[in-house]
Amino acid sequence: MGVDRYDFAVVGGGLGGAAFGKAMAERGANVLVLERTPTFTDRIRGEWIAPWGVEELKELGLYDEVMGQGGHALPGFTISVGLPGERRDLVASARPGLPAVSFYHPDAQEAVLASASSAGAAVERGASVRSLRRTSDGPVLSVRSNKVEREVSARLVVGADGRDSAARRWAGFELRRFPETSEFTRDFGTRFLTGQMFEDVDADATAGHMWVNPAIGSVGYYFPHSARKGRAFVVFGERSQSPTTPDELVKACRQAGANGAMFATAKPIGLFATIAASDGWVDHPYGDGVVLIGDAAGATDPTWGQGMSTTLRDVRLLRDALSSEDEMDRACHDYAEAHDQYWRTVLTLEEWSTTLLLKTGTEADANRERAIDHWNDDQSRRPDVFMSGPDGYVLDEQARRRYFGEE
Ligand SMILES: Cc1cc2nc3c(=O)[nH]c(=O)nc-3n(C[C@H](O)[C@H](O)[C@H](O)COP(=O)(O)OP(=O)(O)OC[C@H]3O[C@@H](n4cnc5c(N)ncnc54)[C@H](O)[C@@H]3O)c2cc1C
Repeated sequence: MGVDRYDFAVVGGGLGGAAFGKAMAERGANVLVLERTPTFTDRIRGEWIAPWGVEELKELGLYDEVMGQGGHALPGFTISVGLPGERRDLVASARPGLPAVSFYHPDAQEAVLASASSAGAAVERGASVRSLRRTSDGPVLSVRSNKVEREVSARLVVGADGRDSAARRWAGFELRRFPETSEFTRDFGTRFLTGQMFEDVDADATAGHMWVNPAIGSVGYYFPHSARKGRAFVVFGERSQSPTTPDELVKACRQAGANGAMFATAKPIGLFATIAASDGWVDHPYGDGVVLIGDAAGATDPTWGQGMSTTLRDVRLLRDALSSEDEMDRACHDYAEAHDQYWRTVLTLEEWSTTLLLKTGTEADANRERAIDHWNDDQSRRPDVFMSGPDGYVLDEQARRRYFGEE
């Protein structure tokens, strides 16, 4: 039996893989997207996308698709650290001049995968990639679908199979994490996010809400999906601190800073789960016919809500590199270099934010107080990467000292 051959074979049809499938099919490429699940179900994943990620959605021609599937604009953002926070107007103050957007993640995945198919990509559901091998003709995937194993070859395999990527392992990329044995272990280890959808919530439905409780290093959020419905999350550094029921989750949000009335009549609906997650990334996510995008290339700590924005940034960078350079190998190296550059900036601000806002203890309290005092005098000390995106920021030692209020 012959081997199917494509320009691009994409492992995983989540937001990253599906968006890449659409982007390259629109440019006339022969693309196959292989997605293991027959339908997308709730796994508790990203549902608030920052203004700079919304800009990427627009760049990729996906904004209308996502908004048409229940996307909800959130022009405001309130963040409180201990004290009640003020509402920030993201459209007026963040660089893209756009609101954040929330959606039910499985609906957004269906919408983006459907648009890949409409653009001409071959999309296979229920198709699980089992292994990858490299040959002199390029990479070959072994795929199981409808109980049948077959081989698929491509000029380029795109690993878009998420934070536990098998494609990354098969291709031999080294996964990097913050040093396990250093003083960072506690601050940058695994975090535990507990999420639950609620209806009948009494909150400002035009804003995302975030509460940081530095005393116990926890963060709570509420992201409205519509007038009275949305997802609440709480993040802890230890699994034993995580809530085990929706009532406990509400209590933890209140402890983090949510006002008492917000969840007074709220009713939980659907999945309740705690997800373990941490930063993990690959330097230069390309080698020998295999390129990684999205969480497979670099998964951020979800505490800072950057994962879908970085995923969509990867798709655009790879699309543009492949479109402007005839030689595929060179184009993929260009992508990997561009990825590393912006990724460093996002990761560095995550590291600073985690150290400053989530570390517990009296010394940490004093450092936080000093830095926040300085921010109140001069907002430019606080790089707006999480809302405005990484472009134009140089997070060097001087920027670090300004962020921490050390000068
Ligand atoms: C708890 C939590 C909360 C988050 N909150 C936010 C947030 O508020 N904002 C934000 O921007 N980001 C957030 N994120 C991050 C965001 O969800 C991810 O960055 C984003 O979903 C990554 O998309 P992806 O396409 O790279 O990977 P995924 O969404 O993981 O998609 C990978 C796809 O590959 C498929 N697959 C895997 N293996 C195979 C295989 N062998 N064969 C075929 N298919 C395969 C899977 O079924 C899946 O559909 C959060 C993440 C977590 C865990």
